[in-house]
Amino acid sequence: MAFIYSVLFTLAFAVIFSAIYYMLEQALSQNTKKDLLDDSVEIISAYKKGKLDALKSYIANEIEGDGPANKLIRVFDPDGQVVLSSDLTLWGDLSLPKASDLDLSSPVVWSVRIPKRPQLEARAMAFLVGKYVVEEAVPVEWNSKLLARLREAFGVGLLLTVLVAIPSGWFMARRSSAQIRGIDRVARSIARSADLSRRVPLRGTDDELDHLAKTFNLMVERLERFLQELHDMMDNTAHDFKTPLTRIRAMAETGLGTTNHEEIQGTLVQIMDECDRFLFLLNAIMDISQARTGILSLEKKEVRAKDLLASILSLYSRVAEERGIRLNVTYPRDDKLVFFADKKRLSQALSNIVDNALKYTSSGDTVAIWTRTEAGFAEICVADSGPGIPREKIPRIFERFYRLDTSRSTPGWGIGLSLAKAYVEAQGGSIAAKSEPGNGSTFCIRVPTQQEG
Ligand code: ADP
Repeated sequence: MAFIYSVLFTLAFAVIFSAIYYMLEQALSQNTKKDLLDDSVEIISAYKKGKLDALKSYIANEIEGDGPANKLIRVFDPDGQVVLSSDLTLWGDLSLPKASDLDLSSPVVWSVRIPKRPQLEARAMAFLVGKYVVEEAVPVEWNSKLLARLREAFGVGLLLTVLVAIPSGWFMARRSSAQIRGIDRVARSIARSADLSRRVPLRGTDDELDHLAKTFNLMVERLERFLQELHDMMDNTAHDFKTPLTRIRAMAETGLGTTNHEEIQGTLVQIMDECDRFLFLLNAIMDISQARTGILSLEKKEVRAKDLLASILSLYSRVAEERGIRLNVTYPRDDKLVFFADKKRLSQALSNIVDNALKYTSSGDTVAIWTRTEAGFAEICVADSGPGIPREKIPRIFERFYRLDTSRSTPGWGIGLSLAKAYVEAQGGSIAAKSEPGNGSTFCIRVPTQQEG
């Protein structure tokens, strides 16, 4: 690539130079021709005034003015004999074309080398004056020097192009392709070793190639997170599915060991219940993984806080009543308070928190639910007066399958809060928990009130 660009660059340079050289040469030659033509007009008018005598004094004047080295004028009679001539010492015998070979109806111009000064070229012109042929020649020394300098400059320019521009072009091309080669290297090594921890080093140039490397790294990072999540899920499920599966198998074995129709029916119902719980657990684990890797499909729209609270109240008022707990729901004063979220997932997250609050609160106590807004976010909080959670354990209760030792006697899988957290975070929100042992717990879900961007 760098080679092709270098060749093209050199060619372009040569074409541009040739065009300039040609145009300059033409302009200079036109200029000399014009000078010669001007002289021819003066010679003709001198001849008209005083024939050969006038011509003779014109030639003497011209040569005196320009110097014998800078002008040659000769007059030939119709037989080709020289009638008048300027000093030829510095010119020698210019081999001018024969008058008979020239069409002298209009002045004829040509180039010739000066025999006495072979390094010099002259422009010569022949034209008719009466019956005589006048030949005039001027050296084009200055023009030739200028053109020679131009050729020299071109030579140096070309040399510089080859010595400097091409290597530096090659260096630049290599430098910019280094990032692409870096990406290629990392991609190959990932394909070979499946090691997703590799990244393309960034150069900090903030150009397109650096952006490409950043995007590539981001893609690998997401892939790594996705595979790690998959790996964790496999590990967890393998471990945590053992218990329910063993239980289901034990139930089936019990059913097989009896012939009592009613007992068999009872065992089958138990197996079905266990299977349902198992399916719920499986779905929850899959949802958590999808939410954490950003592939959970969400249907986000405006969810009115009022409606959300009403549906929670209708779901849990009965349970609360049965457990002797007061469910204290405060509706927002602002009727238009909304969460911009997937209604189903947000309700599920809130249900898990309310479910825990009712589960861990003793009879006679209160569970309070309220909402509030803050800088583009809406919050829904659930406070209970249960046993509370030790401060250092608060981050852990959001982990999959984590349960406080004190909760072992309460039914549960240890999955509700991690599912709630995954759902809320997938929609750009967060969950915060505040608690102290003996002082109850408060969980707040925070979700944007409108679409981002
Ligand atoms: P579980 O099904 O065990 O409730 P969660 O993921 O919902 O699973 O909760 C994880 C653990 O966090 C619970 O086992 C419990 O120890 C603790 N926890 C959750 N909510 C509360 C709460 N409101 N009060 C006290 N402890 C709680």
